[in-house]
Amino acid sequence: MTEAPKQRPPPAGFDRLPEWTGPATRLIHGARRADRNAGAVVPPLYTSTTYRFPPEFSPAEPHEPPYLYAREGHPTAEPPTEIIRQLEGGEAARLFGSGMGALAATFQSLLRPGDEVVAFADIYGGTRSLLSELGGASGIRVKWVYPEAARFPHEAVGEATRLVFLESPTNPLLSVHDLGAWASEADSVGALLVVDNTFATPLNQRPLALGADLVVHSATKYLGGHSDLMAGAVIGPQRLLDRIDAHRALGSVLDPWSAYLLNRSLKTLALRVARQNENARAIAHALRVHRSVARVYYPGWNSAEEETIAARQMTGRGGMVSFDLRGGAEAVRRFLHRLRFVEVASSLGGVESLVSVPRETSHRRLDAAERARLGIGDGLVRLSVGIEEAADLIRDLNEALEPHSGDRAGPPVPGPVE
Ligand SMILES: *Cc1c(COP(=O)(O)O)cnc(C)c1O
Repeated sequence: MTEAPKQRPPPAGFDRLPEWTGPATRLIHGARRADRNAGAVVPPLYTSTTYRFPPEFSPAEPHEPPYLYAREGHPTAEPPTEIIRQLEGGEAARLFGSGMGALAATFQSLLRPGDEVVAFADIYGGTRSLLSELGGASGIRVKWVYPEAARFPHEAVGEATRLVFLESPTNPLLSVHDLGAWASEADSVGALLVVDNTFATPLNQRPLALGADLVVHSATKYLGGHSDLMAGAVIGPQRLLDRIDAHRALGSVLDPWSAYLLNRSLKTLALRVARQNENARAIAHALRVHRSVARVYYPGWNSAEEETIAARQMTGRGGMVSFDLRGGAEAVRRFLHRLRFVEVASSLGGVESLVSVPRETSHRRLDAAERARLGIGDGLVRLSVGIEEAADLIRDLNEALEPHSGDRAGPPVPGPVE
């Protein structure tokens, strides 16, 4: 589906695949090791929290056994860690108990009192709260970049900036930002660029290859893909990973059961994402001509400039589509009640299609003025497209929008810039 990322050698024990091995093959064969697991094709689940070591072993010695205590590392987490590392094309990776666990460890480990962080204002609500709290408690200064300023990295980043944090596509308006431009601006002042790649997935976009220093994921979303596990990941150079909670003292670790499930989920990631890309595109086009829909948000559709950036840095546009209903909050309420397959729930990236209303879910903690500044209106709906039949989803949406006029074309609304 996509080109193979530039690879670095795997950690000891894992077979090295040829450089040309593509992502879909890496998902299946990327964590093979000849010396382990009695030849089992599926890596087993080790539930043990503790591991035997030789009586003469002293932790002060340089030759530590591979495992001591599961919080510090366990064998079940190794295959998914290795697969995610390869997909993003990083030198090292570490898994966490959730996306927020990964983000909290990254910020807490890399930032010091007085450091300036430049962060986009339209990021995941939890990340925004985390950065605000760090600002209060740890003396970190956060400079928020609002959508109107997001095209001007040079104005946002200054000599005092230590870290730049962004998401692209953003949540929920799916704006696309020039990762290369932000990377070189961060670089010019010696700051790190950290990109949350949850929405795009490494199959559609690889920030490290575009100049980012670290990639973070909520693996609870697409990487897990079945809405049944929580996990987070950080991928980047070894020298940075060594600084991010290397001793797992912050405690957000992926437990063996979730690691096992994540490993299983990753095998179908390429299939799921390809289908979600396709379904989302079909749905975005269908919604664009629906007369109850005022505007459709889809990566690259916000402006001609964003389309150029998306075409350059993404190989697929992902499975998220947002749209504004002309009838505002009332129309949203009626729409949600009429849906048949698409379920009303927060979160995203699973095999099932889900809708949520950002005003009431991800952005409920913001006041009305702040939501307006971010472009989040009362009629906004966010759709995470699943792997069902596109035609069935389109029919479900059309019927829920306006039961008797769904197939009639409405006035033109902003859409692809061709
Ligand atoms: C869900 C999400 C997070 C937080 O991840 P959890 O796994 O819920 O802790 C962070 N960033 C983005 C973009 C998300 O969608």
